[in-house]
Amino acid sequence: MGNCAIVGINWGDEGKGRMVDLLTEDYDVVVRFQGGGNAGHTVINEKGKFALHLLPSGIFRDGVVNILGNGVALDPENLWKEMNEVMAQGVSLTPENLKISNRASLLLPWHRDLDGLEEQRLADKKFGSTKQGIAPFYSDKYQKKTILAGELFYRDHLLSHLADLMEWKNLTLTKVYGAAPYTMEMLEKWLDEACEKIKPFVCDTGAWLKDASANGKTILFEAQLGSLRDLDYGIHPYTTSSNTMAAYAPIGSGFPAAKITDVVGVVKAYSTCVGEGPFVCEMFGDEAEELRKAGFEYGAKTGRPRRVGPLDIVATRYGVEVQAATEIALTKLDVLSYMDKIPVCTQYELNGEKIDRFPFPVALGDCKPVIEYFEGWKTDISGARTWDDLPKTAQDYVLAVEKAIGCPITYVSVGPERESIIIRK
Ligand code: GDP
Repeated sequence: MGNCAIVGINWGDEGKGRMVDLLTEDYDVVVRFQGGGNAGHTVINEKGKFALHLLPSGIFRDGVVNILGNGVALDPENLWKEMNEVMAQGVSLTPENLKISNRASLLLPWHRDLDGLEEQRLADKKFGSTKQGIAPFYSDKYQKKTILAGELFYRDHLLSHLADLMEWKNLTLTKVYGAAPYTMEMLEKWLDEACEKIKPFVCDTGAWLKDASANGKTILFEAQLGSLRDLDYGIHPYTTSSNTMAAYAPIGSGFPAAKITDVVGVVKAYSTCVGEGPFVCEMFGDEAEELRKAGFEYGAKTGRPRRVGPLDIVATRYGVEVQAATEIALTKLDVLSYMDKIPVCTQYELNGEKIDRFPFPVALGDCKPVIEYFEGWKTDISGARTWDDLPKTAQDYVLAVEKAIGCPITYVSVGPERESIIIRK
């Protein structure tokens, strides 16, 4: 068996966490390779219900080693909080089963402040940031104005590096935004209360992964968010600030030579989107509220109601293409069981013309969805465990989606629990 990446095909929240939790059975290592704690994975298994933000979803399996790669936005405060929450629920986290890359950049305390200050300045032009400091963090990372986790082991060097960064950042905080400056006392408190806690987990994960791979261990790469939020390929500027693509997994994990043989793209049986930006297939009013309630579409991190719509074939086909997905996990099919007819957005209409290709982001604002309807099944399918357990109309829906997006649907998820899955291979 080779290495695998699990990625979101759409706008995120497709149910990647439940798929990683399921597939970790077959892998030895799980790596988070990008993003920060600004989104949430919900995982339900025999240990309980968990909302993970930065921790890899493999932490529930004994013997699986979990890695936070160099590509993540490592927020020591939030990570330590999340680790404590998970440990309080009986999950063991030790330097044996959780390893943090010494090359991961630290999200510094001012990144969260800057996120909030900038959204405030933008007022009604805001992007709908989760205010976790992710965009300011990545901007600073690419300016080389942040700290690597490995620097925690060099205290004198660290304090002088932090002092330089603070001097620079205080200029922006005070002169641009009129906010209060940071002091070294504040930063030393942050070092002692958050960074020192995660320090025992920091190591050279690149070397570790290389050795593990040479010894035949298999790696599962876990992405956050989805294709349409990718910095380079998403709905710019309503994207996240990192690359959510399977192609980035080897780079963001510390093992650039890693070969990925399987890319499992996760697609929800309908669409959801959090925050601002174009969402062509969006439903409104009662129809939207009913779907939102049926799928419990409220953000795992923010509790914000998600925008909802029917499955968007145009966007999904694009997501499959840019991720080079080799197979698809279709999640939350059970949520559609209440519908008489299942709407699907099969094309966009742009300037009076029907189009199949996902357009340049600016043109999305002028696109209208072309909706077709499939017959509903109107029966509870959450107990289905094999393909044959599904009603014919549900099978037809899955097969039609498979054909339209051009990628085999090998998993059909009919509930959040680990066992609520139909495997078609
Ligand atoms: P992720 O960030 O891609 O992991 O997605 P989220 O965790 O934010 O959203 C997925 C949500 O749907 C979670 O609450 C899951 O427990 C739930 N979920 C996942 N798969 C299914 C499914 O097949 N049916 C139902 N009803 N819920 C599911």
